[in-house]
Amino acid sequence: MKPALQSWESRELASFFHTFSDLPSLAEAGPTVIERGEGAYVFDNAGRRYLEGNSGLWNMTLGFSEPRLAEVARRQYDSLPGYHTFFGRNSKPAIALAERVLSLAPVPMSRAFFTNSGSEANESVVKLLWMIWAAEGQPQRRKLISRRNAYHGATVMAASLTGKDYVRAFGLPLPEVVMAGCPHAWRFARPGESDDAFAARLATELADLIEAEDPSTIAGFFAEPIMGAGGVLLPPETYFAHVQPVLRRYGIPMIGDEVICGFGRTGKLWGAQCVGQSPDIIVASKSISAGYFPMGAVMLSREMDERASAASRAWEEFPHGFTAGGHPVGCAISLEAIRIIVDEGVLAHVGEIAPGFQRRLSDLASHALVGEARGIGLMGALDLVADKDSKQSFSGALRIGERVAASARARGLIIRPLGSSIVLAPPFILTDGEVEHLFSTLSDVLDDIAAQPDVKAGMSR
Ligand code: PMP
Repeated sequence: MKPALQSWESRELASFFHTFSDLPSLAEAGPTVIERGEGAYVFDNAGRRYLEGNSGLWNMTLGFSEPRLAEVARRQYDSLPGYHTFFGRNSKPAIALAERVLSLAPVPMSRAFFTNSGSEANESVVKLLWMIWAAEGQPQRRKLISRRNAYHGATVMAASLTGKDYVRAFGLPLPEVVMAGCPHAWRFARPGESDDAFAARLATELADLIEAEDPSTIAGFFAEPIMGAGGVLLPPETYFAHVQPVLRRYGIPMIGDEVICGFGRTGKLWGAQCVGQSPDIIVASKSISAGYFPMGAVMLSREMDERASAASRAWEEFPHGFTAGGHPVGCAISLEAIRIIVDEGVLAHVGEIAPGFQRRLSDLASHALVGEARGIGLMGALDLVADKDSKQSFSGALRIGERVAASARARGLIIRPLGSSIVLAPPFILTDGEVEHLFSTLSDVLDDIAAQPDVKAGMSR
């Protein structure tokens, strides 16, 4: 056999059916095979080191070598390596984790249960809402409102709630889903419209949408406090203050999707605290276990808990759950991750390094390729434009985001292209020096790309 065929890269290409991967780049550059991690860095199988500017998929918030998480996992594997939460059974770590997340919730929450992912958590909420409304004599209340550019997951309903074009590949969204406007003022506010006027208009449009769909058919409204996979889109400061009264007027529950924001990403424990969102149900994942175990959580307010409990009485149970939901090892890891984030100073550390991170990010707004630099806490995005004035994006053929990411990777920095944006979400344990390294690398990358002849030709000035 030829040596090339034995490489991990060629074995990968021959055997692995890729999820969410840019196939032209993969064909050209091949996959990156990551072998180990240390702090905020990962190392590929050739020993090359990369600063993980995205914490994996936003989730490895405590980095790649936190011994305390491995230690609690080991201890839990030794005592009870797996169990479930069906038929009234449970394990101590799952109970303790429910207590802990409830005690930390941004608004009072009554009870919680666990899933293996953010998608499953959102999917579970939809079933919960449908069960509640049906039991309350309103079985026609099945429509879910989401927002353009939202990301809520990859399972059938969670993908339907995702306001991205690509869900059409699957004939989605399901007919129950209706889309409200995206609260990104830089792209969608009208010329001269203030942030507050834009937010007020979105709330009016939401009320119009609800009326047009018939309020008695709406089951719930899903919203990330800050849209993550949409490209780190922060709503106007008064967005939720305008939108929430509309939902309340029609008795529509607000579901806060904290999968990315929750447990520290924004510099506060919850995204809701940054944007004034008052959810009736909260969904979390990712940072809850610092990515060391697949884990999702659903928290219910007292009212939603009581309504769900009443509704499940007709069936003598909530006929829903996942084999590994509330896995004792995942819950033990999550308890420790939350302890490290909240009690061991990591959240405070994020608060300390975030201003520098945001300052370096907004410095890049003056770069020729950058239309908008935006972010909060340790999440940020650069919107790349061919023309700063018209905010015109580059032609897709230039694959500008992929180019930036590939050039960064060649310099030992992993970042993620997302549509016309480049997204940053480094681990919470980053040092000031690593923040500096991240942005000086990124700045060099942008200079290089801007100097490439076809990119130069594609720019208006
Ligand atoms: N909600 C949000 C806001 C997300 O960002 C994601 C994943 N990035 C999900 C839900 C889905 O989570 P998972 O990939 O764990 O299913």
